[in-house]
Amino acid sequence: MNVYDSELVAGLLQKCGYSKTDDIQKADVIFLNTCAIREKAEETVHNRLNNLHYMKKKNPQLLLGVLGCMAQNLKNELLETKPFVDIILGPDSYRRIPEILKVRNKVGNHHVDTKLSKFEIYEDMFPSRNEGVNAWISISRGCDKFCTFCIVPFTRGRERSRSMLGIVQEVEEAVSKGFVEITLLGQNVNSYRTSEGKFHLLLEKVAAVSGVKRIRYTSPHPQDMDDDLLQVMSEHENICNYVHLPLQAGSDRILKRMNRTYTQQEYLQLVDRIRKFIPGCSISTDIIVGFPGETDEEFEETLMMMESSAFDSAFMFKYSPRPGTKAAEYSDHITEKVKQNRLERVIELQKKISLLRNQRHIGKSLPIMVEKESKKSNLNWAGRTEGNAWVIFNKTNEKPKDIVNVLIQDAQGVSLFGERILEKELVHEIN
Ligand code: SAH
Ligand code: SF4
Repeated sequence: MNVYDSELVAGLLQKCGYSKTDDIQKADVIFLNTCAIREKAEETVHNRLNNLHYMKKKNPQLLLGVLGCMAQNLKNELLETKPFVDIILGPDSYRRIPEILKVRNKVGNHHVDTKLSKFEIYEDMFPSRNEGVNAWISISRGCDKFCTFCIVPFTRGRERSRSMLGIVQEVEEAVSKGFVEITLLGQNVNSYRTSEGKFHLLLEKVAAVSGVKRIRYTSPHPQDMDDDLLQVMSEHENICNYVHLPLQAGSDRILKRMNRTYTQQEYLQLVDRIRKFIPGCSISTDIIVGFPGETDEEFEETLMMMESSAFDSAFMFKYSPRPGTKAAEYSDHITEKVKQNRLERVIELQKKISLLRNQRHIGKSLPIMVEKESKKSNLNWAGRTEGNAWVIFNKTNEKPKDIVNVLIQDAQGVSLFGERILEKELVHEIN
């Protein structure tokens, strides 16, 4: 989401006559687009700002801006402790950048705007993307789910969806610029709805755009994962057989305390339904360990759920209290030591499960999108499966952005290794 927002801002800056530079010393303006989801993300920005302070001392003309969720959340703290930051803009205020830059060149005040909007969807703004395979496209902004651990509803405001027409136009534009994979983005991507229809209809429209080779979307909420969506996914070859399905925790009591709105059983049934509609579908997840009050037994239920769901991969986090959220107020916080220990255990378990899941591909031919040269050898490509796993394979006559068949021969760590099957050989096999 932040990559996309940065691209939107880059698009705006380009319109005002600015261009990107790879050499930070040459920059006239530096924006940090920030995240507030966990304390660590905030610490990273504080450290970065301290470094940039030195640059600003050497070059007082340099304009320094903080954008995004941390600007929204920590406006006052930033103003007090980092007065050298010139511009502070929340996620709904990027349109003000051109006007601020114009004024700012004359006077030297702070510019702060962190008002949240019920309507801002940046409909008519086109992002400036770096070249590549995948284009991120935001289809909705904000979140109304209010999970008790999460800062997003406070920093990004109410949920609102863009028009289908605007999204499809942006997809077409991305394809015309050479992007072949589209990832639709939203905090709750599948609760997207407009007067024209719900998420599955949008997905169908995007799948019909000529030149779109692969479609992904993230992050769906289990609550909004309906059969219409699974049906559309199963019907369209260019929609990847892959679902990122954040579980967060395994125990019903903790799920309830998190306000996740599903139970262990409902989640497992959903996993079954996904795999029934889309055989072989890869599923990844997000896990939080050490949520306030999580007992050892309840943590064991998370491990059990990870085994039962057999996730292909997982993003795993220690619970990080976010001031202002409901969970931060709970009185039964878990010690850092226990959180760390639980994190290590989920990581360890997921490593084994991921390897087993990857090993199931050995001996099969999979369609792989060629993405870039392998870091280890210029004789090999690195590409991705529909399930988002990286595959290293030998170069033949293919080029980046092609989808080719690769025979998977080995799985190590989180990567797969294989050999390109040339179409001639396939034809031969079929004969
Ligand atoms: N909207 C998505 C996820 C958004 S945030 C969803 O509902 O699934 C991405 C992930 O960060 C979450 O899934 C959660 O696992 C993690 N996360 C959010 N708040 C957190 C917190 N306070 N501490 C630790 N992890 C958190
Ligand atoms: Fe945060 Fe996702 Fe829950 Fe919304 S649904 S509150 S973004 S974790």
